[in-house]
Amino acid sequence: MINRKVVLRARPDGAPEPSDFEVVEEALPDLEEGQVLLQTEHLSIDAFIRTTLDGDPGHHGTMSLGTPVAALGVARVIESRFAGLEAGDAVVGGLGAQTHVVAKGKRYRKLPQSELPARSWLGALGLTTGLTAYAGMIRVGEVAEGDTVVVSGAAGAVGTIACQIAKIAGAHVIGIAGGPAKADYLVKQVGCDGAIDYKANDIGAELDRLAPKGIDVFFDNVGGEMLDTVLDRISTGARVVICGAISQYDHLDSARGPSLYLRLAERNSSMRGFTVDHFETDFPEMEKKLSAWLAAESLRMPEHVFEGIERFPDALVTLLSGGHMGKMLVAL
Ligand code: NAP
Repeated sequence: MINRKVVLRARPDGAPEPSDFEVVEEALPDLEEGQVLLQTEHLSIDAFIRTTLDGDPGHHGTMSLGTPVAALGVARVIESRFAGLEAGDAVVGGLGAQTHVVAKGKRYRKLPQSELPARSWLGALGLTTGLTAYAGMIRVGEVAEGDTVVVSGAAGAVGTIACQIAKIAGAHVIGIAGGPAKADYLVKQVGCDGAIDYKANDIGAELDRLAPKGIDVFFDNVGGEMLDTVLDRISTGARVVICGAISQYDHLDSARGPSLYLRLAERNSSMRGFTVDHFETDFPEMEKKLSAWLAAESLRMPEHVFEGIERFPDALVTLLSGGHMGKMLVAL
């Protein structure tokens, strides 16, 4: 069996480019006891992948040149020597950017029989998307009916779900994203009450217009200057949720922190970061809620899909430069 994997040719200097990666082939070994052979069906393209490409080990670790780029995915079991899985089962887990995997079966979660396609466990029900949005908006942001909520990176995967969860909770939701098509998407497809195209508008002036009484929950995916602009406009008792800071991922060793953090003290507010895995014990309950909203069609996950393992680098570069809306996937 031949595996095709995407590896780093060189560590990126700033924003990654497709030429930083290459696809290489390898012959896979025979299965050992406890192992499975998987065929990848979809790979999840996530912002965190950027943080694994530099030499310094960050929160998500660092990858060596020559090993598959880190990626979550869904796959089909082709052959099994692991008691918990059999051929034909669908699984989700850390696959890496590759067409096939030989690994211990216990590393993967068998997906339940469902009307939903397996790739839903990368998107609306996915660890790095739906569960992250749920944990951040409900558990950390404690969103409540009547809140004014602002989400940055709103047209991306986590942002799309975070905005919809806030709407379901009865909040007034404003999304921030780059470009007029994304602002349109946020209002017409995601259901936001307002949207700000940060590339064409002054974010502060737009927030003053759209949220004149202040912001109760800020779900931040972007960080940097945008975080300060929103901090300046939080209400008393606001919750600022640090989900991510994608504007800083190309230079994490000199990330820009907020300079207006004293607004938190002045307005009796809090700022709390989180990692989704911290809420692991709540995942079954979160998945149940998200599934019910999907079934009721109060939650939708638009997808942007690239075809073929060769497109993995393009998909990652597109995600990091904002060229997609909703969930970015690579189909194999
Ligand atoms: P995504 O939102 O689908 O894609 C990233 C988006 O970020 C891009 O589409 C782009 O949209 C925006 N962006 C990129 N560079 C930017 C910049 N310099 N300034 C402003 N916006 C920029 O990606 P995702 O995987 O769903 O991740 C979203 C966030 O969630 C990331 O910060 C990620 O690290 C975080 N996250 C956190 C956890 C956790 O456990 N805390 C788990 C998963 C993800 P525009 O066109 O709008 O610029």
